[in-house]
Amino acid sequence: MRKFFHRIAAIIVIISFTALAAISQNNDSVIIKKVVDETMTNSTAYANLRMLCKHVGARLSGSPTYFRAVMLTTRMMKDIGVDTMYIQQCMVPHWVRGQREEGHIILASGGKYALKLCALGNSQGTGKKGITAQVIEINSFAQLSQEGIKNIKGKIVFFNFPMNPTYILTHKAYGESGVSRTHGPALAAKYGAIGAIVRSLAINLNDYPHTGLTIYNDSFPKIPAVAISTNDAEYLSKQLKNSDNVKAYFKTSCKTLPDTTGYNIVGEIKGSEFPDEIITVGGHLDSWDLAEGAHDDGTGVMQSIEVLRTIKASGIHPKRTIRAVLFANEENGGRGAEKYLSEAKNKKEHHIFALESDGGGFTPRGFGLEMDSVKLNKVLQWKYLFEPYGLYEIEKGSSGSDVGPLKEIGTALAGLYPDSQRYFDIHHAATDVFENVSKRELDFGAAAMAALIYLVSERGL
Ligand SMILES: [Zn+2]
Repeated sequence: MRKFFHRIAAIIVIISFTALAAISQNNDSVIIKKVVDETMTNSTAYANLRMLCKHVGARLSGSPTYFRAVMLTTRMMKDIGVDTMYIQQCMVPHWVRGQREEGHIILASGGKYALKLCALGNSQGTGKKGITAQVIEINSFAQLSQEGIKNIKGKIVFFNFPMNPTYILTHKAYGESGVSRTHGPALAAKYGAIGAIVRSLAINLNDYPHTGLTIYNDSFPKIPAVAISTNDAEYLSKQLKNSDNVKAYFKTSCKTLPDTTGYNIVGEIKGSEFPDEIITVGGHLDSWDLAEGAHDDGTGVMQSIEVLRTIKASGIHPKRTIRAVLFANEENGGRGAEKYLSEAKNKKEHHIFALESDGGGFTPRGFGLEMDSVKLNKVLQWKYLFEPYGLYEIEKGSSGSDVGPLKEIGTALAGLYPDSQRYFDIHHAATDVFENVSKRELDFGAAAMAALIYLVSERGL
């Protein structure tokens, strides 16, 4: 008889657990619907992005406009009524482009073809006369070392690493071909090249040069380096197939000034039950200097602020502390991210989760998750809550370079995965402007982020 009661009791316990779980799941989907509805109806992200793009514009580290972006976004944080707001100061590199670049190809016939080009970030200028030399095309680093000093010394190396169009996730192609820009010029210098021309990291063919960071190696000379448009890269490659005797000329006036001050902006809603458990949501406030930094990363910045606004406007009192962080200097140094980590370590803060949006403000497809398997499995159990919104790609993946350093203190990381097909059309180019952002797609991304942040703030990790 006692056994029978035990069994009945066990069954009742199981039924109540299942019922509780069902209620909480049901409750989650109701609240997430509320959160998404709030963002899709009342988001201020698009209007805020317009302000950032049109009233501030490009905002490279060290520029006066970066400072204006700090003022503007500080006001935005205050306007949404965060509990706490503060600024973290750090030293950042200060690279300036100087006068607009010029350059052309000199064909064997003596004919000239003007190049659409721009200096690479953190590169050194050519001096007033510019540089002129024979061009050698390189398609892989293996080929570069094979050609060696014998064939490279005194020349301009043309790195032609087209992005692989067969990768559906374009970031993978960017990662593979991107080494030509980040490390190509330094490697060319190793073999005695006097300059480097890099094919822009765009998948489509267009007339816009795409800038971005190049990293010198202190053991080799710091040679001038430019990116040319993909159309020009195709043209140059074709000329080199017809003749060995193709030269190029280019002139850049860029230089690196002494380090200057940069700022992270932090806005916070205090947790009601576990205020010491911190959840970060962020993007980077700096941008390259050629455009308005709309998708990179104005959208991530405005989505992060919008997450806080949405949470508050939905009447949610998060159990854990939620912070929106606008990072300094992602594009050419990463010092803002380093500063955020060092502050977290100094104050012995407990950072349980950090989400970054730095892949453009396009339709969200899911999240990349960078965390141990226990936490990963926990987040994967929430997948069904996102599927009604078309977010299916919730999987082990990558987060972002601003939250990345937090891995050192054991923080679980995630990155928003927006649709990536059009990102590299405009990335780091003059076309990264407000007009190329869709309000609906931008808001949808913010809504997805708010939903995930809400779940972590309720459940912990
Ligand atoms: Zn970015």
